Amino acid sequence: MRALVVSDIHGNLHALEAVLAVARSPAGGGFDQLWNLGDIVGYGARPNEVIDVLRPLATINVRGNHDRVCSGLSSSQGFNPIAAEAAAWTRLHLRPNNREWLRAIPMGPIRASARAMCAHGSPLHEDQYIASMRDAWTPLQRMETEITFFGHTHVQGGFSQREHEWAEDHPVYAGRNSDRTEHFMLDVPAGSRHLINPGAVGQPRDGDWRAAFAIYDEALEQVTFLRTPYDVAAAQVAIRAAHLPERLAARLSLGR
Ligand code: ZN
Repeated sequence: MRALVVSDIHGNLHALEAVLAVARSPAGGGFDQLWNLGDIVGYGARPNEVIDVLRPLATINVRGNHDRVCSGLSSSQGFNPIAAEAAAWTRLHLRPNNREWLRAIPMGPIRASARAMCAHGSPLHEDQYIASMRDAWTPLQRMETEITFFGHTHVQGGFSQREHEWAEDHPVYAGRNSDRTEHFMLDVPAGSRHLINPGAVGQPRDGDWRAAFAIYDEALEQVTFLRTPYDVAAAQVAIRAAHLPERLAARLSLGR
């Protein structure tokens, strides 16, 4: 079983289309399932189109905090002004059927396979950020499966534990910020525990503007992290044409 794992698409249709094209290509190796870790909308200018593409493909959906706010399940209290403005814009532009679909997405963690769960933030709390080993330490020990895929931080990588060894797993790419598609393999053998973040499809914040995602091969006990270039200029034009905050366009080419 091969799962394409995506998170934090944030209404960026151009990035999502590039990710799907690579995942389906011989280089990507194809996939049997698609696991979506949430924050499908918010920030980007194509929320309806992203849902239209993702909805028929996703076998697992977990809700994100932006999905909750943009569908009216929670208020934008606690969001910074730019995020709140984008959420208000998204709420206004979502088609009613898409809004209803977003509202019905369950909270994580959700069991996805024999070895893996999917969450948006932490497997212990949907809104908690796992950004350091300090954050990962308790969830790694308490999670019910050996592997949890999570998002929310927009930073690709992971944290792992095997007996008394703890490690941070940072994908390393030769062509950071280049216009190449690259991959980085991580072994996830039985008996080891892993928190794995595929990174953000639609708004990476780890200093590499390329769309981030992962492919999990359960039989091979392997996770492949990937980065792929996409038409950032087109995504920025769409954000500016929608009169969303300029910062949301500018940050896409910085990967920040
Ligand atoms: Zn997000």
